[in-house]
This record gives sequence, structure tokens and C-alpha cells, in this order.
Amino acid sequence: MLEILTRITQGKGRDSDIETLLSIAKTVKECSLCGLGQTCPNPVLTTLNYFRDEYDAHIKEKKCPAAVCDALMISPCQHTCPVGINVPKYVAHIAAGEYLQAVETIRERNPFPAICGRICHHPCEGRCRRGELEESVAIRALKRFAADWYFEHVDELPEPEPFPRTRNQKVAIIGAGPCGLSCAYFLAQAGYGVTIFEAMGIGGGMPAVAIPDFRLPREVINSEIDYIVKRGVEIKYNTPLDTKFTIEHLQANGYDAVFIAAGAQKSQVIGIPGESEALAGFHYGLRFLHDAKLGKKVKVGRRVAIIGGGNVALDASRTALRLGAEEVNVYYRRSREEMPVTEVEFDEAVSEGVNVHFLVGPTRITSDEGKVTGLQCIRMKLGEPDDSGRRRPVPVPESEFFAEADTVIAAVGQAADLSFLPPDSALERSRWERLVVDSNSLSTNVAGVFAGGDFVFGAGMIIDAIAGGRRGALAIDKYLRGDRSRVQMYDTRQPGIKEAEKPITEEEGTWEAAFRPEMPMLPIEDRKRSFSETELGLSEEKAGYEAKRCLRCDLET
Ligand SMILES: Cc1cc2nc3c(=O)[nH]c(=O)nc-3n(C[C@H](O)[C@H](O)[C@H](O)COP(=O)(O)OP(=O)(O)OC[C@H]3O[C@@H](n4cnc5c(N)ncnc54)[C@H](O)[C@@H]3O)c2cc1C
Ligand code: SF4
Ligand code: SF4
Repeated sequence: MLEILTRITQGKGRDSDIETLLSIAKTVKECSLCGLGQTCPNPVLTTLNYFRDEYDAHIKEKKCPAAVCDALMISPCQHTCPVGINVPKYVAHIAAGEYLQAVETIRERNPFPAICGRICHHPCEGRCRRGELEESVAIRALKRFAADWYFEHVDELPEPEPFPRTRNQKVAIIGAGPCGLSCAYFLAQAGYGVTIFEAMGIGGGMPAVAIPDFRLPREVINSEIDYIVKRGVEIKYNTPLDTKFTIEHLQANGYDAVFIAAGAQKSQVIGIPGESEALAGFHYGLRFLHDAKLGKKVKVGRRVAIIGGGNVALDASRTALRLGAEEVNVYYRRSREEMPVTEVEFDEAVSEGVNVHFLVGPTRITSDEGKVTGLQCIRMKLGEPDDSGRRRPVPVPESEFFAEADTVIAAVGQAADLSFLPPDSALERSRWERLVVDSNSLSTNVAGVFAGGDFVFGAGMIIDAIAGGRRGALAIDKYLRGDRSRVQMYDTRQPGIKEAEKPITEEEGTWEAAFRPEMPMLPIEDRKRSFSETELGLSEEKAGYEAKRCLRCDLET
């Protein structure tokens, strides 16, 4: 067993290893006559039972989700970034004042440095080794610094040129969100002709139509899309795929492969009495944010109640404050621990005046003469874990209470909208109304049709959608070349150590506690009624200091 486990942690695991381990462990347990023999296979059996996905990740994707198997990674930050950005390399470029090279390094894996520099939930920082000393390196803020520098100096820099077209085949992409745009970018880089068909008049997906300007200004999204278009990607706006303009039409028009990246556009209903868009003062979070972001007139009352605990709920709460609400209450049925938002987002909402009430579930939306009057709620406690692994909220008997509100915003999740596919579409769907795809290649059951991002995996994080786009591009490239091998998105060590990658000298290497610089923020009083960006970005001096805190884990032998 030790031999098999060792090779799995070294990235040399075989597909048959899990079955072999199970069989050896069970045989040892059942056939041993002493207590030692009967119990020694337990750790293997338990981990195979509870962490099967981790075994699969090690064997099939050469990934160690906990970033502890040294043989599988070059640095923990690069390994935990879903797209595998060479973080130490770009951070070292920033330390050396080579900002263009820093941006180019990020773009090797992610065409959205400015967007991710603002809203990525930065799993890389959670595994940064500097964090074991005092504080992790501010990897995301450094990404934003380099990207902002690029766009501020874009007129002085060489104009980006289209990638050379080296392949005859054409690929169609449905949806110009982060997933579709990434897929298009990497396919154009691989030499294919790429056209994106986008339903709306603007590109960018959720970042462009839902994430408020105070977290992600429109100009930032436009600049990144401009760059992608300059590299040779064509976008056809106001061109939705629907039951009349279908995937079959695209194939008949000479597209050799299709990638569907249509996102999760449907707001989920809560399913409680009184929930109706016909009521004055009731909104679904996505529509509310969409209208506010696109500058439509959106009215909120004096007291706003938000139901939910994710990005949409918190963005809606902060938007409501800016639109004039005097009191904003967020009601979430679980606890802070289960809330899928970053610490910064949560702290900013609270510091702006949003009240968050945990372990509260709404049971009815009340109204009078067609106008919302409030929420009937019940307190919850956490019970046993559910299918998602999170503890299930259970109502506490006789704990009902009423919360007054003149606006109620429901933000309990989004789902893919498959209604644009004809009813007789051959694409296989799961019973949760999602497309079924192969997890490695993102291919559907129809040859040449692939799908990824929120459309397939449900509302998630932007960097996972970008990773899906890159995976889709690699898979389509293989498909069009007739290569049936697995997609490999392993970390790669780049040959040669450039100037910016020199190991630090002994003197520089003497460790001294040094903390990350604080992100300059727009003062709270300036945020009232203003959609100006709240995080202001690191100065050049602070970015240089922060970049030098990186321990260059990639240079360890
Ligand atoms: C309010 C809000 C805040 C968020 N905050 C964060 C955050 O802070 N950090 C983070 O990591 N993630 C955040 N996210 C999640 C992130 O934005 C998404 O995970 C990401 O945008 C998914 O990308 P996608 O390309 O799969 O889908 P989308 O961004 O939804 O893009 C899909 C695109 O497909 C188009 N489309 C749909 N149907 C069709 C059709 N039939 N024909 C043609 N085009 C079509 C849509 O118009 C859209 O442009 C947030 C999401 C929301 C809604
Ligand atoms: S894209 Fe996100 S996860 Fe990847 S390195 Fe940047 S901040 Fe970290
Ligand atoms: S110290 Fe540097 S190389 Fe090491 S994990 Fe942190 S950012 Fe990555």
C-alpha cells in the first residue's frame, strides 16, 4: 500500500490504483488475526471513503487540492490557482519593475488580469507559504497593480496584434462571458478562427451586467474585451442562439466545433407564499443588479430586506444603500462560515452599514394592496450535513418573527437556462437540467460540441469559469487534431531563469516579519450614493514592497 500511495503523491498514480488499494486494505483487515493488522488499513479505507475526489485529482489531473504533495507542484500558489498562473514569476517581475512582463506572464493562463485582480476569490493566497510566517502575499492585489499599469500605459506600448492564423478550422462559441471569452482567446492563440455569438449588446457576462461598478468598473471590463478582440477574436453581439438559430446551423455553416458558455442566467425561486414579481417592491437579485449596472431607473424603499448569502445578495445590499435605502437587512439561513463570499466583501458590506442576520429563513413575503410590507421569518439552527457537505439549516420551533420591509430582494441562487436549445436537441441533460459533459474534456455526447463554465457547473467563481474556458480550448484543439488523449493542465516549470527569476541573495533572504500593505479604500462617507470603485489599488511603491515579500517557493529544489 505504501508503494502505491507514494507513487500517487508523486503524480505517477495509475487508474487501477484505487481499486488495488481497496482490495489490499480490505484483505489485510479481514484476514489479520491480530489487532494491529485489523486496524492498520483503516486510514487508507477512511480516506478512500471520504476523500475519493482527492485521490482522483492526484491520479487523473496530477493535482493535489491541499497543495502539500511537493512532487506535483512547483509552488503552492500556482498549484491552487485554478488556471495555474505562474505566480512567483509575475510577482518577481513586479519586484523588478518589469510590469509588462508581469502582465504577459498572467496572460499565459488568464486573459483577465484586471478583472481577476479585483474580484477573484484568490484561493492561491490561502496556500501561500508566506502566510505560515505572518501574512500571505497579496497575490490578487499585485495582479491588479500590474494590469492597471498596463492599461494606463497602453498607448505607449506596442499595439496587440492578432494571433497568427495557422489552422483552417473555425470554432463557434456561445456566450461572451469570462468562460466563452477565455476559450476564444486560447483557441485564437492556438491558430484557429473563432467567433463568439453573444445574446446581448455587450460582452463580459455577469461581470458586465451584474457585478456593481463599485467592485468592478465597466471600463475595466471593456479594456480586457478590447484586448481579446485585438488578438483576433470576433464577437457577434445581439446574436442569441435560440430554437431557430441552433448549434446545427452553426455546424452547417462550417464551424468545426462549438463551445457552449451561456452561464447561469435564471434566478432561482425561493418557493414561499407571496413570492411574486407582480408585487411592487419585490425583485430578484440578478434582475435588480442588471438594471442598476446598466443605468436603468431602479427604485428602492426606505427599508430593504435581502434574502440570501452569496455574491448576488451582498452586491444587492450595497447597491440598495447607494440607491438611497436607509436600512438594509440581509437574511441568511446558514452561518458566516457557509457564506460563499470573501472576507473583504463581507467586511465592506458591514462597514457600509448592511446588517447581516444569520440563521434566519423567510417563510412568507407579506404585502398590502399589491405592495410589499415585509417578511415573515423563522430562526434556524444547523443540523446534519446535506449533499453539498454543508450543515443543513433546520427551523427552530416557535421562533417566528416579522421583519418590516418595503423592498424585498430574493437572491438565493442562479441556474442555467436551457430554453434556447430546441426540445428535440440531441444534447444529453442531467436530471438537474444541466448538460452532461466529460469532466476532463468538457465534451458533450454530440461530437464536436463542448460546454463549460456556470452553464454546466452552476453559478460559481469567475476563475473556475476561466479555467473551464481554457480547458475547453485545449480539448477542442485536441479534438480538431484527432488527438484522443486526456487534457492535461499540469503546472509547468518554464525553462531558464530570467533576470527577474534570480534566486534571492543570502542577505536579502534573511527573514524578518513584514506584513502586507493595506489596500487603500474610498472613505465610507464618499461611498454613500456613489458607485465609484471602493478599492483603490496599491501604489507602485507598495506593490514593489509587497512583491519582494514572496519567498520564491518555485526556486526550491
Ligand atoms: C452579482 C454577481 C457577483 C459576482 N461576484 C463574483 C466575485 O466577486 N468573484 C468571483 O469569482 N465570481 C463572482 N461572480 C461569479 C462570476 O461572475 C461567474 O462565475 C462568471 O461570470 C461565469 O462566467 P460564464 O462565462 O460561465 O457565464 P456568464 O458570465 O453568465 O456569461 C454567459 C454569457 O452567455 C450569454 N448567453 C446566454 N445565453 C445565450 C444564448 N442563448 N446565445 C448567446 N449568448 C448567450 C450571456 O448573455 C452572457 O454574456 C459573481 C456573479 C454575480 C452574478
Ligand atoms: S487568478 Fe485568482 S487564484 Fe489565480 S493567481 Fe490570480 S488571484 Fe490567485
Ligand atoms: S511565497 Fe511566493 S511563491 Fe511562495 S506561495 Fe507565496 S506567492 Fe507563491
